[in-house]
Amino acid sequence: MKPINLIIFGRQGSGKGTQSLMVTEEFGSVHISTGDMLRAAIEQATEFGLQAKTVMDRGELVSDEVISGIVAERLGQSDVMQQGFLLDGVPRTLGQAESLIAVLEGLDLSLDLVLNLEVPIDEVTSRMMSRGREDDTEEAIARRLGLYEQETAPLLEFFSEKGVFEVIDGLGSETEVFERLNAVITRVISDKK
Ligand code: ADP
Repeated sequence: MKPINLIIFGRQGSGKGTQSLMVTEEFGSVHISTGDMLRAAIEQATEFGLQAKTVMDRGELVSDEVISGIVAERLGQSDVMQQGFLLDGVPRTLGQAESLIAVLEGLDLSLDLVLNLEVPIDEVTSRMMSRGREDDTEEAIARRLGLYEQETAPLLEFFSEKGVFEVIDGLGSETEVFERLNAVITRVISDKK
């Protein structure tokens, strides 16, 4: 199968993390989740992890400089070239998006598809309230969703001008949503030269 390079957008609680795992399992692309990378740093109790934890617990964003650094590092590893990548949770700001474009150009990597997993705010709020993750306090949820609308939603337009952009309905069962993603990704792969 040809490697595919993609970004998945979606509000917190949209099921983006779960769907990303299903997609990377099916298509073999390397799953690059900044949230997972940051949580791994916290678990290892590195100095960097401790700093990130303070920011994350408040529902704020880790600096663009730090995020762009860890993403560039990961994209530069050889498995990405062979297997493709799926970016999950990044970019979240225009600064991260611009830095990403530069890094992809530098590494001669294409961007084949940008997905937006669409789930309305009411629905994601109730999903998050019931999942009970440590950083899912009501206040932090509201702050993260606010930041998403402010910082990340404008990127959808930025990327829709850059190439293939698809909105996927994120309501329904995990399998139903995956089938929608699967159909779009399969089509894009078969169109890829
Ligand atoms: P969620 O989708 O619920 O925000 P993530 O696992 O994607 O969960 O991220 C958890 C936290 O990690 C975010 O609230 C933020 O503080 C930090 N984080 C993750 N990715 C980024 C990013 N690209 N830019 C800035 N901060 C990030």
